[in-house]
Amino acid sequence: SIILETKDVHLSYGKKEALHGVNLDFEDNSITALIGPSGCGKSTFLRCLNRMNDLIPNTTITGSFQFHEREIYASTIDLVELRKQIGMVFQQPNPFPFSVYENVTYGLKLTGHSDRKFLDEQVERALKQAAVWDEVKDNLNKSAMSFSGGQQQRICIARLLAVQPDIILLDEPTSALDPISSAQIETTLLELKKEYCIIIVTHNLQQASRIADRTAFMLNGNLVEYDNTSKMFTNP
Ligand code: ADP
Ligand code: ADP
Repeated sequence: SIILETKDVHLSYGKKEALHGVNLDFEDNSITALIGPSGCGKSTFLRCLNRMNDLIPNTTITGSFQFHEREIYASTIDLVELRKQIGMVFQQPNPFPFSVYENVTYGLKLTGHSDRKFLDEQVERALKQAAVWDEVKDNLNKSAMSFSGGQQQRICIARLLAVQPDIILLDEPTSALDPISSAQIETTLLELKKEYCIIIVTHNLQQASRIADRTAFMLNGNLVEYDNTSKMFTNP
């Protein structure tokens, strides 16, 4: 079922219009890839979905963003809650300079959880879902920054999973990683889609064809094609 639907999204950075009316919908338990040449607006669109663009001055956004029965840009929306429900992973792994345990419990502690047993359980669940538990379980008190890039990226995914999001946004999550780490992340995402709605920006068409159920192709701030990935990559 559709969990998030955008209609007629326009975005301008000052006078420069970067999105010219994007209509997209996203289903639960699926991976959608956003592809298109550099500068076409993929990251901009992704950042609209959890209101990260609000942080960029002089940005004007219009259109509708229905998430469950709510409008993401309604004045009553709690941004901390929104970014928990719609979490984001970036190109460069960005763990906090604390231990693995502190990274993964960060969001839970912010929302008032302090029971040690509960936190331990959630840390184990989230790191297992992110497929990095076996590699870090004996070093939960070590700095997250001391692990490899691929491990750091999966720790970041676990940090996001700890707070039980509905939607996971990923902005080129593997382009800073080696091929093996990149393949591990892809496998992890294919597992995670059984429970989450996943939206991934990628410049890697093979990656889209390997993991995405649906693919949206953008050009110059417009959505030019949106279909099942198998159809997108078949010659007519
Ligand atoms: P993509 O992710 O497809 O590479 P972006 O969303 O990063 O594209 O960028 C879309 C357009 O908006 C580009 O022309 C880019 O230069 C411009 N842009 C992106 N971020 C900003 C910003 N913070 N301020 C001004 N222009 C921006
Ligand atoms: P990506 O395509 O992955 O978004 P970019 O190199 O286009 O990466 O952008 C890196 C950062 O610079 C982003 O935060 C983006 O918003 C910002 N940016 C991109 N283009 C511009 C621009 N023309 N003016 C100001 N900031 C920009």
